[in-house]
Amino acid sequence: MKKQKEKPPKKASNAEKKETRENRNPSVTTGESRRVFLKRGVLVGVGAGVAGAAGGGFVGGCSPSKKEEPEKIECPPCETKVAARPSSDKKVEKGEVRARAFKEWPIAKPAKVHYARIKDGQPNKVWAQKVDELFKKLKPESLIEKDHLVAVKQHFGEKGNKGYIKPELTKKVIDEIKRVGGKPMLVETNTLYKGSRTNTYDHIVTAKDHGFSLDAIGAPVSILDGITGQIQQAVAIPGKHFKVVFVASDVLFFKSLVALNHVKGHKLSGFGGALKNLAMGLASRAGKLAQHADFKPFIDPKKCIDCGDCAIWCPPGALFMKKGKLQFDESTCIGCGQCLTVCPHGAIHNKSPRTETNAFMEKMAEYALGCVAAFEGRTLYVNVVNHVSKACDCARGENPVVAPDVGIFAGSDPVAVDMASLEVSRKVWGEDHFKKLYPNVDAEVTIKHAEKLGLGTTKYNLLEA
Ligand code: SF4
Ligand code: SF4
Repeated sequence: MKKQKEKPPKKASNAEKKETRENRNPSVTTGESRRVFLKRGVLVGVGAGVAGAAGGGFVGGCSPSKKEEPEKIECPPCETKVAARPSSDKKVEKGEVRARAFKEWPIAKPAKVHYARIKDGQPNKVWAQKVDELFKKLKPESLIEKDHLVAVKQHFGEKGNKGYIKPELTKKVIDEIKRVGGKPMLVETNTLYKGSRTNTYDHIVTAKDHGFSLDAIGAPVSILDGITGQIQQAVAIPGKHFKVVFVASDVLFFKSLVALNHVKGHKLSGFGGALKNLAMGLASRAGKLAQHADFKPFIDPKKCIDCGDCAIWCPPGALFMKKGKLQFDESTCIGCGQCLTVCPHGAIHNKSPRTETNAFMEKMAEYALGCVAAFEGRTLYVNVVNHVSKACDCARGENPVVAPDVGIFAGSDPVAVDMASLEVSRKVWGEDHFKKLYPNVDAEVTIKHAEKLGLGTTKYNLLEA
């Protein structure tokens, strides 16, 4: 009788689940790394310190469990209880978090970057045609096999935003993936800030409103980190800031990745391209928070007109209105930086010293590495340099253009594709519009740190179409 008790039926069920996951994606590592999983918003491992290492410093009873039976853990969802800055990785270094093992993959030096120059103001059909031509040059058939699930990472734009890559261009890529036998899905993750893409319902409706639907594009939309952005997996990386990053869970179940990246300005990173699309776009909510946590808002009383826009977007309610006046509770600020990007009057600044801005950019590079690690090089990147706006596609409203269109860059190395986009754009413009917009930000910090980490190379051969 005792022996029967030692083999409860649930263990058999877990083993079956593991078996199923392994079958779906043989590249998922076996053994202890698969003992990290999410239970109601909490990353659970075999040791202590997991939730703290998740970068959220979650409060509200979400302490990690030492038990190995996750079904026994009961705690409420904690997405609204983020109230502290991320804790350090010390516990991770002690080996208390089990994460998916990181494996290097070979990169070609110099990398090939295909480029099509497109003059300013051309219609979408011209851009779509060039995307089609360049994407064929990447030979997607070399990494996409029949029936492979292919993640096509695309920013759908915040409600009303006009900067995102347009559906006509995306459809060309989808058609090409299908032509070589793949099963493409348009993928995204929910946002850290409050907006039109904070949960899966609103996100998919926004995508449809902007022209991204199964009917229009020929590929379904999938939000990879659960309905409120909390389903994640830990990936171990050899980073300077992080030893473990938190990636939207479903990312790890695709066979290959195609990232369509709109190149534009960004207040914290100078510019955004492929690396930013990977780092912010494929991280879970805790992962996004961990990257942003160096930001410290300063509200300029001379510029603030108490319109309340920032309070609407502030995730933990650190900014709020009281009797028509903006209030700021620093103790609950999570450093996400969203208020900086949404204030229409330029009244919010980052009071972190410059080194911390650089740290934010290096953290992005580390997240980019972790987010693509599972693909081991089965990735393609297309950077579209048009509708170059001051802020990123997360900004509400039209997001006006600040520089002429440049063209499209495509390759299999995100570091090279970003570097080429930046350098060629400067040449085409005859000046550096990103530097003009954000003189205190060195836009190359992310790129160079990604190169140091082995994600790619800044050396490239430009192959002009
Ligand atoms: S959005 Fe800007 S101007 Fe409006 S309340 Fe916030 S800080 Fe002030
Ligand atoms: S005050 Fe700004 S940085 Fe702090 S949590 Fe709110 S939106 Fe984020």
